[in-house]
Amino acid sequence: MKKILITGGAGFLGSHLSKRMLEEGNEVTAMDNLFTGNKSNIYDLLADPKFSFILHDVTQPFWGQFDEIYNLACPASPIHYQKNPVETIRTSFLGIMNVLELALKTKAKVIHTSTSEIYGDPLEHPQNEKYWGNVNTIGIRSCYDEGKRCAETLCADYAREYGVDVRMLRIFNTYGPNMHPKDGRVISNFIMQALHNKDITIYGDGSQTRSFQYVEDLVNAIRLIMDYDKKELKKKLDDYGWDSDIPVFNVGNPDEFTIRELAEKVVKMIPDCTSKVSYENLPSDDPKRRRPDISMAKEILGWEPKIKLDQGLVNTIEYFSKFK
Ligand code: NAD
Ligand code: UDP
Repeated sequence: MKKILITGGAGFLGSHLSKRMLEEGNEVTAMDNLFTGNKSNIYDLLADPKFSFILHDVTQPFWGQFDEIYNLACPASPIHYQKNPVETIRTSFLGIMNVLELALKTKAKVIHTSTSEIYGDPLEHPQNEKYWGNVNTIGIRSCYDEGKRCAETLCADYAREYGVDVRMLRIFNTYGPNMHPKDGRVISNFIMQALHNKDITIYGDGSQTRSFQYVEDLVNAIRLIMDYDKKELKKKLDDYGWDSDIPVFNVGNPDEFTIRELAEKVVKMIPDCTSKVSYENLPSDDPKRRRPDISMAKEILGWEPKIKLDQGLVNTIEYFSKFK
């Protein structure tokens, strides 16, 4: 049994990871300030004596002896991270700093959840881990993108300078049950709009693309990356040609869809849906194309996503139906 800390543990991804870690027989502490997370995501876990919840802001230092720390705390939906941009960048930077300091003192292993947003509006397609990105430093998305880029730098420097065992995932758009119905990201928006026969709000002309990953596939990748033996992982990465001291994996589903295709799919999947499409302004710096190159995860971890968008949408629509 391992002692696990999950920051952002009451959020969408954090609640799934907490559940999985408990099912595997571990003792799990979920830390969250409930900025975008919700205790309803973890109600069923609270009855488990091996689970505890701490209401705490990750930007404030914390202490505890853990074998593994998973750093997920950070608002992830553009409307939420843009609502309080200074707090977003503080959370990204100070959050991982506090995690790395604790890991350094206690020898805990760390997983940091980075993002495809570090590639910005990419000039290379698909994006592989060696691409350095195309990010605006002063735009409305920068608090998130640059916060996450800086967090990656901190992870790399704590690994190089102090030997902290930290592994990073660049997560591409992930969806599933436990997303907040008012989360604001495209899948939750479209499903909630379609369930209520409201207009489907496409931003721009809907030709921009995303590649959507179901949450279960992501949790599988997180577990594989954390469990890999450090030396073995380093060797595999060297052999692969990854010329860095820190493991970084793109984790996403390479099936790419335009936002218009997604809207059509969601409307078709909801019986008797009468929603029409309404076109709204495209927010600035909205990436035009996004698709992960997951060759490295495939070869080294033997991982690839299994859940197709149609199947994942069925599960997610079923979840959101309870908010109808
Ligand atoms: P989410 O908003 O549902 O979860 C984030 C959680 O962090 C919430 O529970 C929130 O309350 C908590 N949090 C925010 N600020 C905090 C703070 N200062 N102190 C403590 N807790 C705080 O989003 P999510 O989709 O579950 O994302 C989890 C992580 O994965 C984030 O770091 C995000 O950047 C990363 N990620 C997610 C996606 C995705 O598509 N879901 C893609 C790329 C990266
Ligand atoms: N989007 C949209 N309508 C919505 C919400 C989002 O057309 O109601 C678009 C958004 O402009 C972006 C894509 O869908 O091009 C994905 O947006 P999301 O907020 O889910 O995540 P992002 O990948 O932009 O961080």
